[in-house]
Amino acid sequence: MTNHCCEVMSRRVNVRCDQHDDPFACPDALIDFSARFQEYGLIVHDGGTSSITVGFCPWCGRHLPDSQRDRWFDELERRGIDPSEDEVPAEFQDDRWLAALPRD
Ligand SMILES: [Zn+2]
Ligand SMILES: [Zn+2]
Repeated sequence: MTNHCCEVMSRRVNVRCDQHDDPFACPDALIDFSARFQEYGLIVHDGGTSSITVGFCPWCGRHLPDSQRDRWFDELERRGIDPSEDEVPAEFQDDRWLAALPRD
């Protein structure tokens, strides 16, 4: 469970709607949080799945965590996994892979 910068962000990330399973289909969903990449995106409601990655919280203004996207690919590569072809291990589907890394 990721700790977000503020209560509003937590609420927005964890918004659950009983009418839409997919946040991209729900007009109430604003933030798409990618746990595995630690990226926050503003959902663009254009019918697709686009979002705009943001570096600062729109509510409290705090700097959001750096994206771990490059590291995610690096770590998979180190394990000899090609995410475009191989099955991605469960811990890489969310932020568990980060917890398993030694802190630097
Ligand atoms: Zn915040
Ligand atoms: Zn909805």
